[in-house]
Amino acid sequence: MKPLLIKDSIFLEHDTGNHPESIERLIAIYNSIKVLEPKLQIEKPLLATKKQILLVHTLEHYNRVKEYAKIEKAFDADTLTSKTSFEVASYAAGSGIRALDLIHMGMAHLAFCAIRPPGHHATPTDAMGFCLFNNIAIAARYAQVLGYKKIFIIDFDVHHGNGTQDTFWEDDSVFYFSTHQAFAYPGTGNPNDIGVSKGKGYTFNYPLMPNSTDSELLDVYTNELPKLVKSFQPELILISAGYDLHESDPLASLDITHEGIQTMVETILLLQKETPKIFFLEGGYNTKALAKNVSLTLETIIKFSN
Ligand SMILES: [Zn+2]
Repeated sequence: MKPLLIKDSIFLEHDTGNHPESIERLIAIYNSIKVLEPKLQIEKPLLATKKQILLVHTLEHYNRVKEYAKIEKAFDADTLTSKTSFEVASYAAGSGIRALDLIHMGMAHLAFCAIRPPGHHATPTDAMGFCLFNNIAIAARYAQVLGYKKIFIIDFDVHHGNGTQDTFWEDDSVFYFSTHQAFAYPGTGNPNDIGVSKGKGYTFNYPLMPNSTDSELLDVYTNELPKLVKSFQPELILISAGYDLHESDPLASLDITHEGIQTMVETILLLQKETPKIFFLEGGYNTKALAKNVSLTLETIIKFSN
């Protein structure tokens, strides 16, 4: 079965001008993955409905994204909108929904959503860190509507996915695992933060010191992650794939190579091979390195689906 790629030119419509989270990121990715397209099943995203977005976000937040986009108002200095941002963010949120529908029908097993704006900083009540709606959190909740009970989220973006963590903080049905650069934006993701009440023990944060190398990153993915997945026994694995952990990224300072990222992706794909997996593009701001990292990820996914 060919892996699924969700892509669409609609994602080039959220245009906030001279901003690191630019349309050029996705143009570079779409150009670089063209050669892989014959080996992929390519689908367009769905427009997430209000009801689906409200599985994670408050009505107040949903309305605010709609209103702010209309007048191109910013949520904060980093998180801007353009006229079509509400629609584009709804398609980004609907990408995981499309992938899940196809996986649920038995038409796919592995998927990559090449989308923007990213999502993992968006909390149930607020937009921040370039993120309007939390794409991966909405997908996890939608998966539960379809009947997947236990979901494991892996977040390898160099920044901590505070919005995803917040969403599932008190929840024992969705495990949140994050590796990120210590003390970087947004400042959350302390290893002592493990969830509360029912969710206690279902959040795992592993900050890496600035200038950490492949061996330090891969140590966590080889020695910690498989144990956590084995004891949780998820029915679905979702991945926040942020490529700003690469050594060339202008917004962060880890020393992770292309090979390191590819090995990490292989380690993820080896987890419970029968369990469906969906990757969601998050960060990555050196467009050339980003395009190469996404290509390498897709090549690895293709290899695993044969
Ligand atoms: Zn990031």
